[in-house]
Amino acid sequence: MSTDVLVVGAGAGGLMAAISAADCGARVILCEKGNARRSGGIWSGNDHYCCYVPEIHGPAFRANFIKENLPDLADEDLVVQFTDLSYKALQKWEEWGVNIKTHGHYEFTGHGWPGSSGKRGEPGKTDRTNIHFSDNQLCVKLEKQARKRNVRIMNRVMVTELLKDTHGRVVGAIGISTRDMTLFVFQAKCTVINKGGVEGNRLYPSPHLIGYSMAQPGTGEGAMMAYRAGADIQNAEFCYRQTSLRFGPWAGRGTWIGVARDSEDKPIAPPYLERPDAELGDPAIEDPDALDHVWEMGKGPVWMDPRAISQDDERYMRWGFESEAMVPFLRWLDQENISLRKTRFEFITMQPRTNIQVRVDTHFRTTIEGLYVISPGFLSWSAVGGMVAGESAAKATKALELEDSVEHHDTLSQSKAQYEEILGREGEQFAGWREAQWAIWQVMHCYALPPNRTESTLMAGHRHLLRLKDLAKKGLKAANPHDLYHVIEVLNLMDVAELVLLAVNERKESRGQARRQDYPFTNPMLNEFLVITQKESKPAFRWEKPRRISGNAS
Ligand SMILES: Cc1cc2nc3c(=O)[nH]c(=O)nc-3n(C[C@H](O)[C@H](O)[C@H](O)COP(=O)(O)OP(=O)(O)OC[C@H]3O[C@@H](n4cnc5c(N)ncnc54)[C@H](O)[C@@H]3O)c2cc1C
Repeated sequence: MSTDVLVVGAGAGGLMAAISAADCGARVILCEKGNARRSGGIWSGNDHYCCYVPEIHGPAFRANFIKENLPDLADEDLVVQFTDLSYKALQKWEEWGVNIKTHGHYEFTGHGWPGSSGKRGEPGKTDRTNIHFSDNQLCVKLEKQARKRNVRIMNRVMVTELLKDTHGRVVGAIGISTRDMTLFVFQAKCTVINKGGVEGNRLYPSPHLIGYSMAQPGTGEGAMMAYRAGADIQNAEFCYRQTSLRFGPWAGRGTWIGVARDSEDKPIAPPYLERPDAELGDPAIEDPDALDHVWEMGKGPVWMDPRAISQDDERYMRWGFESEAMVPFLRWLDQENISLRKTRFEFITMQPRTNIQVRVDTHFRTTIEGLYVISPGFLSWSAVGGMVAGESAAKATKALELEDSVEHHDTLSQSKAQYEEILGREGEQFAGWREAQWAIWQVMHCYALPPNRTESTLMAGHRHLLRLKDLAKKGLKAANPHDLYHVIEVLNLMDVAELVLLAVNERKESRGQARRQDYPFTNPMLNEFLVITQKESKPAFRWEKPRRISGNAS
């Protein structure tokens, strides 16, 4: 199949990329290994959109917003671009019928700090940046816009390998149906990968497996395909942890109206709220270090305590939950007759998730010609990333001819042979993908769980992982094409895990949540990205300064 722009993965980023590429006149194919109407992090709806709205926040607030969203180590140009386009992406969504002004105006509630202004019902002035909305049809609405523009959506197609021409340019990809053994060859002038990162729970085991599928879709194929094609990778050594209800969904932390308390009923961390505040939520419940500290002090568990909130606030909280994949939780509360106004709910810290990503410029271009990758991030970051990447890729195609001499037969026949071999394996001497997933969790949990990491644990983990990779190549079986796609995912995850172990070892310091026992301090001399490129089938490391708009790269 041939097209101008191939988009790999739907979700907020992929659908936005497909729509904006089509708006620029490109022919677009979008491959989604699930179903684009129920894809990625938006399928169940999200309830906060982080945004800088010039006419509400005012120009003086722009610098503040940039600072808030500029992590320790980041390319400033990307953050500035996000700041200036977050509202444009939102306006498009509103034009397409996404319900953002639920009560007739933008509501900046939740994820807030005391002293910040912008009360519910008082639009027009705020220094908060998260718009609280409710629309669990967001994904369906974006998919409809893509179809309206004749984007060819191919559901249940997993893209597995990029194709390059003799000049080293990416000129398409191959994919496999997750329903039957159909293999697809896509010839594309430009390819946009949506994110390609790794979900929480796929590298490290979740502390609360109840209610979770082992098969969360982000398993690093995007990053690993790009890496195998020669693109630069970064941030493999970094991770972040979130907090979650102990036996329930992790979503909705900014939606709770309550106070995070320890077992002595004391607020656990700043802002030390005395009582629930519907305007703010309680940012303490989002702080993994605060939750850990409570346990270290012997004052666990940690509770989110909404007791005694008003009926109005309860209604408001439930409204937010409905758009945050919390409907089953609400159903369970009702079924068991549990009142949100009379009950505390236990929260925990989750395992780390890797920040591995492909290095890109402000067009979301990678270091390989013809390849664009939307960087991972929260909802509005993905919306902006998709909008820019799709437009940049579509514009680039105008000066390009479709390559008809793509040499894909080797890649295709090698992949076909590998998949047939996996499907042909039967018997107890072979293992399924779930067993491989557990083995990855064991290696990462035992040898690479921050802060218990040293050079010797990391290298021991690496040795186990190499053995595991070898066993997996020879011994993973799949009963059907659906199982096969999960096998391909865990094989990619093993490659991701290897880069994580090696990169953590390479960065000889602790930074943020990426901690090591043998290097407990942050080294200001290492304020640089650790970039990984595949050279002769091996990872090669180098350091690169983050881009600064001012030119000051410190
Ligand atoms: C329940 C929930 C609530 C949330 N609430 C908020 C919120 O209120 N505010 C906020 O800012 N963020 C929120 N988030 C996070 C936010 O939804 C995500 O950050 C965002 O949607 C990510 O979008 P994305 O398009 O970058 O990636 P994804 O949504 O992960 O999309 C990637 C897509 O690519 C597909 N894919 C992957 N590999 C392949 C392949 N090889 N071939 C084909 N397809 C592939 C996947 O199946 C997936 O559909 C929430 C997330 C969840 C799950």
